Amino acid sequence: MNGSAICAEQLSAALLAIEERILWNAEADLALATELEAQAVELGDEALAARARLCRTNMLMRTGDVAGAARQIYDCYEWAVEHEDRRLQARTHLIWANIQRLLGDFAKCLEHSLSSVELLDETATPFMQVWHRAKLADALGLNGAMEAARPRYHQAEELARELRLWETLTSVLNNWAYTEFTDGDFVRAQEVVQRLNHHAVTHGFELDPATLDTIGAIQIENGEYAAAEETMRVCIARHETGLREDADDLPEYLLTMARAQRCMGALDRAQASLDTARLLCVDRELHEVLVRVHQEQAELLAARGEFAEAFAMHKTFYAAHESLRSKQREAQAQTRQAMFETAEAREEAERFREQARRDPLTGLRNRRYIDEELPALLTGDADLTVAIVDLDHFKRVNDQLSHDVGDQVLVQVAKLLETKLAAVAPDGFVARLGGEEFLLVLPRTPVPTATTRLDEVRRAIRAYDWWTITGDLPVTVSIGVAGVHEAPDLSQSAILSTADRNLYVAKRGGRDRVVSGMARDGRTRSYRDRDRDAA
Ligand code: GH3
Ligand code: MG
Ligand code: MG
Repeated sequence: MNGSAICAEQLSAALLAIEERILWNAEADLALATELEAQAVELGDEALAARARLCRTNMLMRTGDVAGAARQIYDCYEWAVEHEDRRLQARTHLIWANIQRLLGDFAKCLEHSLSSVELLDETATPFMQVWHRAKLADALGLNGAMEAARPRYHQAEELARELRLWETLTSVLNNWAYTEFTDGDFVRAQEVVQRLNHHAVTHGFELDPATLDTIGAIQIENGEYAAAEETMRVCIARHETGLREDADDLPEYLLTMARAQRCMGALDRAQASLDTARLLCVDRELHEVLVRVHQEQAELLAARGEFAEAFAMHKTFYAAHESLRSKQREAQAQTRQAMFETAEAREEAERFREQARRDPLTGLRNRRYIDEELPALLTGDADLTVAIVDLDHFKRVNDQLSHDVGDQVLVQVAKLLETKLAAVAPDGFVARLGGEEFLLVLPRTPVPTATTRLDEVRRAIRAYDWWTITGDLPVTVSIGVAGVHEAPDLSQSAILSTADRNLYVAKRGGRDRVVSGMARDGRTRSYRDRDRDAA
C-alpha cells in the first residue's frame, strides 16, 4: 500500500468520525472539517473532498450560520447526484432537513428527511440506518404527525439494539422523549425516559447533559419536582466536567433547574439558579434564552405573591419575545432569499454554460463542446466514427447571392444534418466546426456502416428543395470520414486530421461525395462513384 492510500484511508476515518458524531463541538469540528477538505483536495480525492465539504456545511449550520450553510448545500447535493453517490446524497438530505427546520419550513424539513431515508441502501453505514430513521421521526413529530413518528422511532430503537449502537440508541430515545414532551404527551415521554434510564444502567454509561435536561423537563411536567432538581444537579455537574461547550447549554440547564425549584417551592434556590442563568445570557449575548429567563422570572415573582412585579416582568418577557420572533423571521426570510438567489444564479450559470457551447447562428454544438466531449468518447468506444462535412463551392453562394443567403443555407444544412443524424445515430451529435464545416459524431457505428449512413445524409442535402433559398444554385456537401482505429493514439487531433484528409480527397475527386478510409486496393473509397455506377 502506498503513502497516499493510507492517507486517504485516514482521512476517510477522520471524516466518518465527524459524520457520525451526535454530540459535536461545532467550532472545533468546523475547523477540523475545513482542514480535512484541504487535505482531500491536496490528495486529489474528489469524493473525500465532497464528504468534507458536507461536514463543513453541517458544522457551519451548527455554529449558527444557517444562511452560509444554505448557500453551500446545493453544491454538496449536486456533486452527490452527479456522481451517483447515494450515501452522500442521503447525508446531504439529512443536513438539508436540519437547515429547513431552522428556517422554520417544517414541510420541507420532512421532505428532505424522507429522502434521507429513501436513499439508504447497502452502502449506508449502520449509524445512518438508525439515525436517519430517528431524524425522520423527529421531522414527522415536528409536523404534528406523532402517529407516524412513533413506528419510525420504534424501528430506529430496535435497529440500534440489534446493531448494538448504544450511544446512538441513547440519542434516539432522547429525541423520542423530547418529541413526545413537546407534543404534550408527558406520560409517553416518561415511558421513553424509563427505557433510556434502564438502557444507561444496563450498559453502564452516563447520560449526557442534554439528555438529562430533557429528562428533567419531563419530570417537571409529571410533577416530580425533587427528582427533576436532582436530575438537573447531575446534568450541570456533568456539563462542567464534559467536553462539549455550546454557549447556551449551561443557561438552558439552569433554567430547567430553576423551574423545578420554583415548582417544589424552593423559591430562593430558584432565584439563585435564575440569576446565574441571566448573568450568563447577558455575558454571552444569548437573546433567545434570556427571553425565557424573563418568562421564568415572571412566574417566580408570581409564586412569591409579588403580582405587580410579576406583571411588569411578564410585559418585559412579552416585548423581548416579540422582538426576537420578528428578528428570527427576518433572518429566516433573508436566508431563504439567499437560497433562492443561489438557485437562480446556478440556473443562470447553467444557461450561460449551455449557450457558451452552442453556435449562435445554427444552434448546433460548437468547437468548445467538441473539445470537452470528444476526447472521452474516443477512449471509450472502439467503433466510434466521426465525419467532417464541408459545403461545396460555398463561396459562390455568398458571392452570387449574398452573405445573408449564405447564412440561410448554413442554418438549413445544420437542420438537415441534425434530423438526419438523429435518424441514423440518435446518441451522436452534430457540431459546427467553424465557417461552412460541420462535425458529425456517430457512437458505436463502425466506419463501413457509418459511411453508408453518411451517404444518405449527403443525398438528403442534395435532394432538398433549395430553390426558395438559392434559386438555381445547387447545394451539396463533401464528407470526410474517420474511425477511432485510424487514430492510433486515440487523440482528437489525429482522428480529425484523418477525416480532414479524406475530405480533401472528396473535394479533389469532384465534391458531393463521402470518402472514408483507404480500401484494401489502396484506393480511397468514394461514395460518389457508387452513385455513378447506379446511374
Ligand atoms: P470548397 O468546395 O472547396 O469547400 O469551396 P468553398 O467555396 O466552400 O470553400 P472556401 O473555403 O473557399 O470558402 C468558404 C466560404 O465560407 C468563405 C467564407 O466567406 C464563407 N463563410 C464562412 N463562414 C460563414 C458564415 O458564417 N456565413 C456565411 N454566409 N459565409 C461564411
Ligand atoms: Mg471549408
Ligand atoms: Mg467549402
